[in-house]
Amino acid sequence: MKKILWAVSILGLLIFITGCGKKSDTTDDANKLKVVASYSIIADMAKQVGGDKVDVTSIVTRGTDPHSYEPTPQDTLSVEKADIVLSNGLNLETGKGWYQKLIENSRKEDVSYVVSKGVEPKFLTTKGEEGQEDPHAWLSLVNGQLYVENIAKYLGEIDPDNQTFYQENAKTYNQKLQKLYETGKEKFAQVPEKQRVLVTSEGAFKYFAEAFDCQAAFIWEINTDTQGTPEQIQRVASIIKEQQVPALFVETSVSPKTMEAVSRETKTPIVSQVFTDSLAKEGEEGDTYYDMMAWNIDHISKGLLGK
Ligand SMILES: [Zn+2]
Repeated sequence: MKKILWAVSILGLLIFITGCGKKSDTTDDANKLKVVASYSIIADMAKQVGGDKVDVTSIVTRGTDPHSYEPTPQDTLSVEKADIVLSNGLNLETGKGWYQKLIENSRKEDVSYVVSKGVEPKFLTTKGEEGQEDPHAWLSLVNGQLYVENIAKYLGEIDPDNQTFYQENAKTYNQKLQKLYETGKEKFAQVPEKQRVLVTSEGAFKYFAEAFDCQAAFIWEINTDTQGTPEQIQRVASIIKEQQVPALFVETSVSPKTMEAVSRETKTPIVSQVFTDSLAKEGEEGDTYYDMMAWNIDHISKGLLGK
């Protein structure tokens, strides 16, 4: 009898413990800060900073262009439920005003933050567009660190209980980014200066090129522009021929067709894909901000060296 009682109480205790475990899991999920980011790169940074305290969703999915986007009813729903919404700003999410409309319709203006705050902007150079900011600031790892600091600050404002946690994660993550930046500088220093010309379809590499002392050339300057006209192809082809550029690159988030035409015209090979406005699909190479930057540094410096 004693044995049976003993067994029953053990069983009771087990049920109690399991029950508690389950309950606290659900509470944890419900307590997580709901973060919505406009595109995959900011979403990843928010995950790195927020760790297990946040539940992050990206509006523009991986492989898709964030300049122009048509929000779905599901996007509206996740923005409505969000505790905080993060965007790049700097003239990125502007195509047909898609982002602004989404925020206004969901009445989230008061929890909507721009993560590029404090970045020194570069401007477009195409005639008639000179006053517009170039959005691709994250392609400099120094700016990337500023994004991370801003994200930690904003998460801490919305969720002050975890402020220190966010700050510490940001600090550790930024040390990794800084190290990658220094490795990158060493790699590009090995490429002879006249070979350091980075040709891509969209002119997204101004910030990257400055960080690594390269020159950036492009077919069209920004994705919301007219893309790949014969004049644009001729213009970049003459730069490639004049400067004897050894290699061309094409972004993962644009069609390679126009760069292939440039490659045929100039008899210069496309040596690698590069990441600009989107991360790779989860599980593939380049699926985090750190990895996409490491990929770009590695493939571009090797490509320009002719390796
Ligand atoms: Zn872009």
